[in-house]
Amino acid sequence: MIEVTGVSKWYQQFQVLKDCSLTIKSGEVIVICGPSGSGKSTLIKCMNGLEPFQQGEIKVGDVSVGAKGTDLPKLRSRIGMVFQNFELFPHMTVRKNITLPQVKILGRSKDESDARTIKLLERMGLPSQADKFPAQLSGGQQQRVAIARALAMDPVAMLFDEPTSALDPEMINEVLDVMVALAQDGMTMAVVTHEMGFARRVANRVVFMDQGSIVEDAPKEAFFGTPRSERAQLFLSKIL
Ligand code: ATP
Ligand code: MG
Repeated sequence: MIEVTGVSKWYQQFQVLKDCSLTIKSGEVIVICGPSGSGKSTLIKCMNGLEPFQQGEIKVGDVSVGAKGTDLPKLRSRIGMVFQNFELFPHMTVRKNITLPQVKILGRSKDESDARTIKLLERMGLPSQADKFPAQLSGGQQQRVAIARALAMDPVAMLFDEPTSALDPEMINEVLDVMVALAQDGMTMAVVTHEMGFARRVANRVVFMDQGSIVEDAPKEAFFGTPRSERAQLFLSKIL
């Protein structure tokens, strides 16, 4: 589904990704963790063409992300991305946030988009919030709206970049529960998170990055057990 092969990226002299390779099969959930600045956000942004890279190849299905002539807007519409800070349109209602991209990008009818929006809001546990504005919702609710908006595009995969790190502790689980349900429904997911409880519940593999390299890529049982790299051990001892 997503195949990252030998990807390197530089910001001027600074190498932010070093020969990264990673495969996410259809239906797999990969958790990516590692210290601040290790390149986690950059790697997943490369996967949907939000960031260019200078070396290597990334394929999503049979589309080569870095190749000339790839329709990046189309690719991005097929890969849902959820960020730390929700990034909803503040001047639009929840309903409009979710319906507008369906109409504009997919060309769905208004009625069909509306029906889909209501279903998704129910699935996210937000059936009565459609006519509110983002600022009238809690952070956990806003993040679930952001997930609904991404799902409305019928993505082939979902990328999450620290989706719960801006949330108050009591709201983290309501977002993680939605993500667990999504994973159990078979969605292909790459999730940058330090929520190791989430990783234990649904990850197929855990990828540990340090200084731009993928240092470890292991089934979760192996990652949480021993042996693992010293750097990953040190990192885990700090966050667990
Ligand atoms: P965090 O856990 O803090 O989110 P991260 O693992 O997601 O960190 P990235 O955001 O991918 O890390 O950044 C990796 C490195 O690239 C960092 O050292 C960062 O300072 C650097 N970097 C990111 N964006 C740019 C940019 N536009 N120009 C120059 N350097 C950048
Ligand atoms: Mg980051």
